[in-house]
Amino acid sequence: MQAHPFSRRNFLLAGAALGAVTWLGAPAVARAASPHVLPPLPYPDNALDPVISARTIGFHYGKHHQAYVDNLNKLVAGTPMADMTLEQVIKTSSGVADKVGVFNNAAQVWNHTFYWNGMRPKGGGQPSGELAARIEKDFGGYDAMRKELFTAASTQFGSGWAWLVDDAGKLKVVKTGNAENPLTRGMKPLFTIDVWEHAYYLDHQNKRADYINAVLDKLVNWNFVAANLAR
Ligand code: MN
Repeated sequence: MQAHPFSRRNFLLAGAALGAVTWLGAPAVARAASPHVLPPLPYPDNALDPVISARTIGFHYGKHHQAYVDNLNKLVAGTPMADMTLEQVIKTSSGVADKVGVFNNAAQVWNHTFYWNGMRPKGGGQPSGELAARIEKDFGGYDAMRKELFTAASTQFGSGWAWLVDDAGKLKVVKTGNAENPLTRGMKPLFTIDVWEHAYYLDHQNKRADYINAVLDKLVNWNFVAANLAR
């Protein structure tokens, strides 16, 4: 039997291989059409403990992220969107009244894959090189950028995301509600923090600020952020 290049099996193998190396751009899953698959985590499920415990990963990655993948596949099956990449589905369904469900699930698949890859065990610290220079130029330094990111993440009312983005050559911090993603506003995402309660409630309960501070200081994968900026 001839294997289709985007067959589920090949795709899982490609995903597993990618999981072992540095993330260098959009997730492999984003380049393939449906069925979309849950990409592997780039670290063991207890690697971010105690900021993000294995229990949280079990629900957040194993249940929530997986459910977005499964729901998306059901919603696009048999439609023209079944042949689109994840990013094409997001851009095509954004703002379309009868495609809200498709958009929400597709964007949440993308957002979560991006979120997981933006962190690593023993991350945090400060960026270097070109990324540090751009932060210096557009924010006036790491501290000012960190403060903006913290404020965006802590003041997002209800569910959503805080992002570091490249907006037409200028680095900015933005926040989005629910599943919204800066890609639909022509911005290039560089890093994100999930501030839905499911991201932090098991480990930090109502203390969203503790979770945000810990992610920024201990988990940010600046190599991932720099690679996004460079692509
Ligand atoms: Mn989430």
